[in-house]
This record gives sequence, C-alpha cells and structure tokens, in this order.
Amino acid sequence: MTGGPEQAILVVHVRGLDGMCAGCRAWWSRLAPYPCWQVDWATSRQARASVARFLEGVR
Ligand SMILES: [Zn+2]
Repeated sequence: MTGGPEQAILVVHVRGLDGMCAGCRAWWSRLAPYPCWQVDWATSRQARASVARFLEGVR
C-alpha cells in the first residue's frame, strides 16, 4: 500500500545537501539533522505495515 501519510512524509523529508532535512526546512524553516523524527516515525510505521501484510499473507 502506498500513498499514506508515511509516504507523503518520506517524499518531502529528504536529505539536503548539507545533511539536514530538506522537508523540515521547507515546511517549518527548521533545521533538523536527517533523518529527522518524522522520517523515523514514517519508516517505523511502514515497517509495521509491511509486517502486518506479511502476517496476513497479502502482498
Ligand atoms: Zn524532516
């Protein structure tokens, strides 16, 4: 499954040239080292979702 809020976050919160999160700077003018906590949240959500799909036998 794609297109959830996790996907939207991962698209925006990418590593900038200086190693900081480009999404945090663009959205909030805030400097955060990449990966920021939103990326951590989104990746952990995606990991849980893929495990759930695996357990359900659905790909
Ligand atoms: Zn960010």
